[in-house]
Amino acid sequence: MRREVEDNSDAMDMDARSGQNQDQQQSAIATAGLITQTDASGRSMARSDGSSAITPDEMLRSARMSDRIALEHARNAQLQANQEAVSNSSCCGFCMSCLDICCCLGPSRKPQGPTLLPPQLPAMKGRKCLVLDLDETLVHSSFAPVPNPDYVLPVEIEGNVHHVYVLKRPGTDEFLQRLGKLYEIVVFTASLAKYASPLLDLLDSHNVIEHRLFREACTNHQGNYVKDLSLLGRDVKSTIIVDNSPASYLFHPENAIAVSSFIDDMSDRELYYALPFLEELASAHDMTARLRTYPQFIADQAALNKDAF
Ligand SMILES: [Mg+2]
Repeated sequence: MRREVEDNSDAMDMDARSGQNQDQQQSAIATAGLITQTDASGRSMARSDGSSAITPDEMLRSARMSDRIALEHARNAQLQANQEAVSNSSCCGFCMSCLDICCCLGPSRKPQGPTLLPPQLPAMKGRKCLVLDLDETLVHSSFAPVPNPDYVLPVEIEGNVHHVYVLKRPGTDEFLQRLGKLYEIVVFTASLAKYASPLLDLLDSHNVIEHRLFREACTNHQGNYVKDLSLLGRDVKSTIIVDNSPASYLFHPENAIAVSSFIDDMSDRELYYALPFLEELASAHDMTARLRTYPQFIADQAALNKDAF
């Protein structure tokens, strides 16, 4: 996806210089903003073929340009939520002019208005909430054809139908099926619903994803789409987020499992390795202490299983 976006960015620059072909420029902008692909750890990612990757800042700039209206809605919603929360707190009042999170409330603030999720279903009572990212965590999607895609999705952008080629990360089906028996699963993506929702229809073959949250549910914080776990309407102490982008869990790093980014490496085994860890975590009492051991656990699993696949 990054190569395609990068190509689109190049096209945009050329169009801007020439002042011509505005339709193509707008199409490239819209295409670039459909799927949010965040960097894994602030570093530039590269495909396995060695091609260079668009930087997070470049991606965010494209996303902002292509989806200005949606972003503005998200900002307004966040501002309104902040204002409502501040009105019920002992806020200093000096941060009200800022669209960012109120400094007085902090990441541990309680949601004051409607939560992002409806009440937990009786069948889910007692389960921890497992929040899963989509792009580069469970799948990788591209506008350029790839060999043997798992899915090809038609997505309409500004009157034109584009095809999105999707590769599932190895182990995704088993990961969802097994963890769906233990957790309340929420897929929370910064991508747009017009792409992500039909993809999840296909991906959720075992019907284990209880809820779906898209870009508009993210909190815009200093240009990042942050997934604020405190707004879900679940006990944050019993909520885990699995995501390839640290910016996504900026407010709750202690709740995060930082997975590597999947692009097109079909020998990737991180979901297989993470599976027993998460199965054990489902009944763990001290969740955050256990989560801190994940990097070592995954390193040990990789070393143990290097010849097993
Ligand atoms: Mg991601």
